[in-house]
Amino acid sequence: MSELEILLQLQDQDLELDRLRLEIDRIEERKQLSQAKSSIDLIDAKLDEISRFKKEFSKKLKELDTEIEKVSARISRLEDQIRSGQVPNVKDQVAVMHEMDQLSSVKNQAEENMLEIMESVEKLDLQARELESQKLPITNTVAELESQIQVKVQALEQEINSHLPNRESIYSTLTTALRSKYETLRGKLGGMAVAQILDGKCSGCHLTIPTTEKEKIIHSTGESISNCEQCGRMLIYLPQSGTE
Ligand SMILES: [Zn+2]
Repeated sequence: MSELEILLQLQDQDLELDRLRLEIDRIEERKQLSQAKSSIDLIDAKLDEISRFKKEFSKKLKELDTEIEKVSARISRLEDQIRSGQVPNVKDQVAVMHEMDQLSSVKNQAEENMLEIMESVEKLDLQARELESQKLPITNTVAELESQIQVKVQALEQEINSHLPNRESIYSTLTTALRSKYETLRGKLGGMAVAQILDGKCSGCHLTIPTTEKEKIIHSTGESISNCEQCGRMLIYLPQSGTE
C-alpha cells in the first residue's frame, strides 16, 4: 500500500472521528437544555429580586416597629403625667393633649404603613411560590435532558474510542514529515488533506487535473506527492474509483 493510500485510510478514520465529535456537540437535546436553563435563570432572577424586596421591606418593618414603640412609650408617659396631676396648668394640659394627638396620628400612620408593607410581603410570597412551582417541572426537565445527553455522549465516546486504536496504528506507519503535512492540510482544508482524482477532477475542489499531471500521478510509484494546483490537497488516483 502506498503512503497516499495509507493517508487516505487515515483520513477516512479522521473524518469519521470528526463526524462523531460533531455529533456530540450537536446532540439535539442540548438546545432544549439550554432553553430550559435560560428559563430557570429568568425565574431565579425574579426570585432574587423578590428576595431583595423582602429584605428591604423587613428592614422597613423593623424601623416602623421601633418608631411605634418609641411613640407609644412617649404617649404612655404623657398619659401618666396627666393622670397623676403633674400638669396642673390647663394651658399646659391642652399642649400635652395636643402633643398626644399628634403622636397618635404618627403612630396610626406608622401602623398603616406596616400593614401595607405586610400586604406587599404577602403578595411577594405568593409570587415566589408561583415561581417556585413553575421552576420545579423545568428543573426536572433539565435533569432528564442532562441524563439523556449523557447517555448519547457516552455511546458516541464509546464509538470514538473504538476507532482510536485503528487510527493510531495507521498513523504510526507514517513518516513524521507526512504526518505534519497531513495535519497542516487537514487543518486548513476542512479535514480533507487528501483528494482522489475522480473523472479527471480533484475530488476536493473539482478542478480538472491537466492530463500530463494526471498521467504522472497514475503512474507514480508513490515516492513523490502531487498537490492539487487549486486547493493544495495531496492527490491520489485509485484505479477502482476512477472511470478512466
Ligand atoms: Zn483540488
